[in-house]
Amino acid sequence: MKLDGKVAVVTGASRGIGKAIAETFAREGADVVVNYVKSEGEAKEVVKQIKAMGRRAVAVKADVSKRADAQRMFNKVLAEFGRVDILVNNAGIGTGGTTLDTTEEDWDRVIAVNLKGPFNCTQIAAKTMVEQKSGKIINISSISGLGGAPVGELAYCCAKAALIAMTTVAAQDLGPYGINVNSVAPGWTRTDMTSRATKEKTEELQKLKAGMAAMRCIGEPQDIANATLFLASNEASFVTGQVLVADGGRRDFLSHA
Ligand code: NAP
Repeated sequence: MKLDGKVAVVTGASRGIGKAIAETFAREGADVVVNYVKSEGEAKEVVKQIKAMGRRAVAVKADVSKRADAQRMFNKVLAEFGRVDILVNNAGIGTGGTTLDTTEEDWDRVIAVNLKGPFNCTQIAAKTMVEQKSGKIINISSISGLGGAPVGELAYCCAKAALIAMTTVAAQDLGPYGINVNSVAPGWTRTDMTSRATKEKTEELQKLKAGMAAMRCIGEPQDIANATLFLASNEASFVTGQVLVADGGRRDFLSHA
């Protein structure tokens, strides 16, 4: 197994991509901290699945955008597991809004969760990883941060672009301590985030996005979990500061590759 004996913290692991990452890591031998903010029942179900695989797991409620919450989560992780080997900054939210109509409130919230959240968790986890002289940090960004900009998602695209910048800077800052920092940039993936519209509109969007990809399909959470697993494993020990795009080969902006 690729993550035997490792302790992983996955933010936003109650649903969607984070859930798939948490369960994939557990299948590969990791003990997992399942972070959530609202969906307690779903988070506990993920913990149950992981425990059924014979791994240790705990659900921790924390709003990653709040420093005190993030600190409390890592205090709990250290008390329970004694170390942190892998951090996946996955928790994220999406809102609509163009350059003309994004509200200040939406801007602040998206930047807080999607950018300050990873900053909070990275800085706190890195203190332990520096002492351990090892660690893997993976930021779940998006092709939206690379120029695959969906119209009307200003704050989201800006947060994801900045998260990619954070990945490259943090890789330089933390590399001397044996810590790898990378990012996975998913394309359109089937989760609650991409199913907010009506059933008809969601299906229409899925068809449209599938048609834009070389593989002629949208992503499943497991596709993103597989890419994340590689970056979390020792197989990626010489890989840092990189963005691994998992989008089925979007034909509308292959220049990112
Ligand atoms: P999702 O299904 O909506 O799940 C979001 C997860 O984030 C949930 O577990 C949620 O917890 C958690 N979360 C939200 N706000 C939080 C906060 N303040 N503190 C802690 N946890 C919080 O979303 P998803 O599609 O799986 O997205 C996961 C990541 O992938 C996000 O960063 C997203 O931007 C990125 N991404 C997604 C796609 C896509 O097409 N789906 C594409 C590119 C990038 P609760 O359940 O408790 O609310």
